[in-house]
Amino acid sequence: MYRFDNYINGIPADISASFQVFNPSTTEIAGHAPKADTTILEQAVAAAHAAFPVWSAIEDQQRQQYCQAIATKLEEHHQELATILTSEQGKPMQGTGSMFEVGGAIAWTQYTASLEMPVEVLQDDETGKVEMHRKPIGVIGSITPWNWPLMIAVWHIIPAIRSGNTVVCKPSPLTPLSTLRMIELMNEVLPAGVVNSITGGDELGAAMSAHEQIGKIVFTGSIETGKKVMSSSAETLKRLTLELGGNDAGIVLPDSDPTEIAPGLFWGAFLNNGQTCAALKRLYVHESIYSKVCTALAEFASTVTVGDGFHQDSELGPIQNRMQFNKVNQLVKDSVNQGGKLLTGGPVSDNNTLFFPVTLIATSNPNDPLVREEQFGPALPIIPYSDINDAIAAANDNPTGLGGSVWSTDINAAKNIAFRMECGSVWINKHGAIQPNAPFGGIKSSGIGVEFGKEGLLANTNIQVVFS
Ligand code: NAD
Repeated sequence: MYRFDNYINGIPADISASFQVFNPSTTEIAGHAPKADTTILEQAVAAAHAAFPVWSAIEDQQRQQYCQAIATKLEEHHQELATILTSEQGKPMQGTGSMFEVGGAIAWTQYTASLEMPVEVLQDDETGKVEMHRKPIGVIGSITPWNWPLMIAVWHIIPAIRSGNTVVCKPSPLTPLSTLRMIELMNEVLPAGVVNSITGGDELGAAMSAHEQIGKIVFTGSIETGKKVMSSSAETLKRLTLELGGNDAGIVLPDSDPTEIAPGLFWGAFLNNGQTCAALKRLYVHESIYSKVCTALAEFASTVTVGDGFHQDSELGPIQNRMQFNKVNQLVKDSVNQGGKLLTGGPVSDNNTLFFPVTLIATSNPNDPLVREEQFGPALPIIPYSDINDAIAAANDNPTGLGGSVWSTDINAAKNIAFRMECGSVWINKHGAIQPNAPFGGIKSSGIGVEFGKEGLLANTNIQVVFS
């Protein structure tokens, strides 16, 4: 059974209280995490604040080297971190599961370390010189969710420290263990206080959002909580990056080959059991190939094994927690009650399991709750359309705007539709394929700001213009 410490100022914090963390595959206890209170949070913020002057003043190249050293450290512990992750999150070790997630965390760390942050000369002539410098903000608070806990923590922490900030990171109380171990490993290579961890209840996130000495919050989680973060950070005029929920639409054009696109559609929707912010969550298919796409997807789904993340043949794990399971189950029930036709899977009546069958529902009802709301789980509604303008209008008729996709053999036609979709990323013939050099973020209720690439890195800085 795992038990890791909160790392504050480079050493384990003295916290006697703890809380249990469960393995969603077995519902047994996976480990314990320290239950920090706001007094401990003060210590973490003070440590980050004290470390900031030295960390922000060192040569930029040195910070690049520190980030590379973190990547090496994570590589050395790849298997160990993946095992902890599967124990608490449930995702399979193999495929696009825990080994993949730790691999992604390493790749993002390496890429972010390699980015340059040059001073930009805006003007240099007889009237004077104007330089634009990028200055770190100070202490950055990172608040992460339970779906991709390690990768998302890396997305927050590495750009923040790479650009000279120090960090207090609060993982989700549902999956704190892998992040705690990762931050412990980071502390083996970083100076004390540069990255600090804190675990406990949601109230810690609220206290971080309101904290005077935290200059920015990077938050990944639900829209509802994102609004609370924004509201409680108003008093201190904090900088914010909010990566929130989505309800991504995919549009399949009539020239697509149903059998060929079925695996891509499936994994676009069911990666991490659908518990992915930019997963395909609503699929609009032209009526001329609608039944063939439904059949091809159901056939592909029947080949996928759902099971314990530690079983070798598992491709999808359980839903991570009971609240999310109940939400997905209810949406599936509501959809069926409102005319949705089950193609495979369906609601579950067993209260003792968190395993949920891969569920595909054919529906023509635009008000189907499974279409309107983010399911964040293994259930996909498939909706027919006859006019592409109606499909685009339906895709955009949602408060969220994270990702979208268009499926066609005619790339130019697909791109023209992509431009009309209201979302931060659009993929052609795939869905959700993020990468470290491409800015990623949502529009509308899906968030504020971007992560990744140069733009994501610079979001951790303030601009200072020097006129000479
Ligand atoms: P959540 O909002 O419930 O929790 C996220 C984090 O916020 C947790 O660490 C939680 O402890 C903390 N928190 C709770 N109340 C808080 C408060 N008042 N102030 C500050 N922090 C608080 O989200 P979740 O259920 O863990 O994650 C699922 C959601 O996250 C989904 O909607 C999903 O789409 C979204 N998500 C978005 C992205 C993205 O990049 N856009 C990525 C992953 C997940």
